[in-house]
Amino acid sequence: MADKRDYYEVLGVSKNASDAEIKKAYHKLAMKYHPDRNPGDKTAEEKFKEANEAYEILSDPDKKDKYDRFGFAGVDPNFGAGQGGFGGFGGFGNFGGGMGGMGFEDIFDMFGGMGGGSRRRSRSGPQKGRDLQKTVTIDFTDALFGCSKQIELTKAVKCKTCGGSGCKPGTNKKTCDQCGGSGQVSQVSNTPFGRFQNITTCSKCGGTGQIVETPCSDCGGAGVQKKTVKIKVDIPAGVNTDSIVTVRGQGEPGKNGGPDGDLYIVINVRPHSTYKRRGNDLYLDLPITFDQAALGAKVQVPGFGESYSYTITPGTQTGSTFRLKGKGVPDIRTGRKGDLYVKVTVEVPAKLGRKEKKAIEDMASAIPASAYPKKSKFDKLKF
Ligand SMILES: [Zn+2]
Ligand SMILES: [Zn+2]
Repeated sequence: MADKRDYYEVLGVSKNASDAEIKKAYHKLAMKYHPDRNPGDKTAEEKFKEANEAYEILSDPDKKDKYDRFGFAGVDPNFGAGQGGFGGFGGFGNFGGGMGGMGFEDIFDMFGGMGGGSRRRSRSGPQKGRDLQKTVTIDFTDALFGCSKQIELTKAVKCKTCGGSGCKPGTNKKTCDQCGGSGQVSQVSNTPFGRFQNITTCSKCGGTGQIVETPCSDCGGAGVQKKTVKIKVDIPAGVNTDSIVTVRGQGEPGKNGGPDGDLYIVINVRPHSTYKRRGNDLYLDLPITFDQAALGAKVQVPGFGESYSYTITPGTQTGSTFRLKGKGVPDIRTGRKGDLYVKVTVEVPAKLGRKEKKAIEDMASAIPASAYPKKSKFDKLKF
């Protein structure tokens, strides 16, 4: 470290260089000295490391400021009390099969893509676990009031024995020998359009850069096990068929320190024997008798856990509908309730005895045709 070159000198820019000039200078050097382009060339490797280090400091305003004021002592952990340090690129000493953290493709990407061979994102970073989906069928009433359901789910869970590492307790992972820990392997292919750099995820470690040496006996090194688990799900009032309730973190375990996936509960609501539902409104057919319809009456509408009184006005016809405001379903988000629409049906008495028949005959003869507004009109119609 004693004979390190000045970072500005490394990049070949002046101390007053703009961010764009620093970036451009680094890009040129990175392209020229990248190990993937200079296999086995130690000098190029050194120059590449040097350029990376310089750029890491000079592209970070905070580190650049420290470097400008204190020199290497301001930014190098080997000087002073270990402040700052080199994050970002990681593992400078680990040059075997590519750089620790930054591959050729990352440099391409960093400069907005430069074309070239097929590239794939490194998969060695933290990855969110897989999201899961499960359909749950609930009763009509449970959808109105909300409920708590215990559901059973077979999914991958973190292995308890190894804590998800996949290693036999007491052992550790080792650096992948196929990719040298970078998680990526590069291949150069010659095509009629020129030489192309192909960076692919390492097949041996799956991009993590590490492999399990002594696998955990319970999970075989996978770090996860398929288990059937019971999960309590709180289903809010107002859900309907196809509503989705999200249970955060109940999907499959994340990889490389990524968050666990989520569980999506897709609701299916069983139909009700009597009630129908459309959105947040409820619909009910209510049978009433002829005399209730003709004379008016106070009726009871059967609700869920309560009943509602309603006064039928005299002369109510069959099929007419009245609305009970706010007696519907609460909105799943706002809690505001929909309405209940009650359609009355005048029911005709069946199974009549002699006495009852006589009573109806008496009534019929007592009521003039003009008392029936529609029928009296129809009787005069000719086509
Ligand atoms: Zn590997
Ligand atoms: Zn295990």
